[in-house]
Amino acid sequence: MQSFQPPRRILMGPGPSDVSPRVLAALARPTIGHLDPAFQALMEEIKAALQRLFNAPDHACVPLPAPGTAGMEAAMMNLLEPGDRAVIAVNGAFGGRMADMAGRAGAAVVTVDHDWGQPVDPARVETALAEAPAKVLAFVHAETSTGARSDAATLCGLARKHGALSVVDCVTSLGGIPVDVAGWDADVVYSGTQKCLSAPPGLSPIALSKRAQAAISGRKEKVRNWLLDFNLLMSYWGGPDGSGGGGRTYHHTAPINALYGLHEALMAIFEEGQQAAIVRHARVHEALVSGVEAMGLSMLVAEPHRLPQLNTVRVPEGVDEAAVRAHVLAHWDLEIGAGLGPLKGQVWRIGLMGASATPWHVRLCLTALGEALAAQGVSADAQAALAAADAKLAELK
Ligand SMILES: *Cc1c(COP(=O)(O)O)cnc(C)c1O
Repeated sequence: MQSFQPPRRILMGPGPSDVSPRVLAALARPTIGHLDPAFQALMEEIKAALQRLFNAPDHACVPLPAPGTAGMEAAMMNLLEPGDRAVIAVNGAFGGRMADMAGRAGAAVVTVDHDWGQPVDPARVETALAEAPAKVLAFVHAETSTGARSDAATLCGLARKHGALSVVDCVTSLGGIPVDVAGWDADVVYSGTQKCLSAPPGLSPIALSKRAQAAISGRKEKVRNWLLDFNLLMSYWGGPDGSGGGGRTYHHTAPINALYGLHEALMAIFEEGQQAAIVRHARVHEALVSGVEAMGLSMLVAEPHRLPQLNTVRVPEGVDEAAVRAHVLAHWDLEIGAGLGPLKGQVWRIGLMGASATPWHVRLCLTALGEALAAQGVSADAQAALAAADAKLAELK
C-alpha cells in the first residue's frame, strides 16, 4: 500500500463542498480521549455554537456521529412509534427518504407529493394535517435534489396549529440561507457538516425542542435503534450540568477529530458573520444565474423559490450531460453534480456552498462549462457569461 494522495478538486456539486485549510488543519490535531476534561470543554462550546447557529437557545443541540442522513434517521426513529400518523411532504429525493424512514419506524405514512423543482405547497399539507391527527409533519427546507426552497416558517406554523411535531431537514440550508428554529417554533431540525458549513462529511448537528424531548422521554416503547436513541445519547452529550443527570458517561466514542473540524468551521462562520455568509451565498448565486443565462442556458426552478447554494441548470437539447461533467472534471478538476430521479440527464446541480461560494468559483465554473459545451459543438458564449456574472457582482457589491 501507499499513502492515499487525493487529487486536487474544486467541489461545486451537491456536497461535499470545499473544506478550508484551517478546518483541515484542525482535523489533524492530536487525538485525545472522549472523556478528557479538555474535550468536554470543547463539547460544551460546540453545543452552544450550534444553538447560536440554528438560533435555537431553548433546544438541545448536539452533533450526531454520522452524516446528515443520521439526523433524519434520529428524528424519525425517536419521534415515531408504530401506528403514529406521519405527514411527509415529498418534493424531491430527500423528502422521499424521510417517508421511507418514517415507514420503517412503523408509522402510518401520508405523503404529500409534488413535482420535482416545486416548493412544498402549504395548502396541500394543511389538508393532510386536517384529515386526521398527525404526530409528525416532516419536510425538507432546501431540497438539494432539485434546488427548491420551501417556506419553513409557514409549514412549522401549520404543524403547531394541528398539534403535530415539525421535523425540518436543514442539511443544505444551514449556513447558506436563514435558519431560524426559534422563530419558526420548530421541533426537530437537523443538518450536516458537508454542505454550507464546509467541514468534511460525517457529522449531523441536530436541535430538539422541549416538546420533542418530552415526546421522546414519554414513548410507550424504546427507540428501535440504539446509537441514535436520544434518551441514551444525552447521557453523554447532556453534560455535567444538563439533561444527562450529572456527569458524562460512556455511550459511544465520539469522533474526536471530526469534532475539532466542526468547531473550527463554526468559528469561521461566526468570524465572517452568519448574515454576511448568507449575503455572500445570495450574491454569488445571482452572478452564476446571470452567467448561465447569458450563455443561453436556463434554470429549472422558478426565481422566487431558488436556493442560492444549489443551482439546477437545464441541460440543453442534444447535449450529453455526463460528458460535460467528465470534461470539467478532467480539464478543470471541477466537480459538478448530476440530476437524480426524474431529473437524471435533465439538469446539472451546481453547488455554491460554504467555502465554495466565492466569485472565483463562479468564474471558474462558467469558463469550464463554456469550454465543455463548445467541445460538443454547442455555441455557448463563455465571455458573455463572465461579463454578465462580473456585472452582477459589481451591482451587488
Ligand atoms: C445531503 C443531504 C442529506 C443527507 O446528508 P448526508 O450527509 O449525505 O447523509 C439529507 N438531506 C438533504 C436535503 C441533503 O442535501
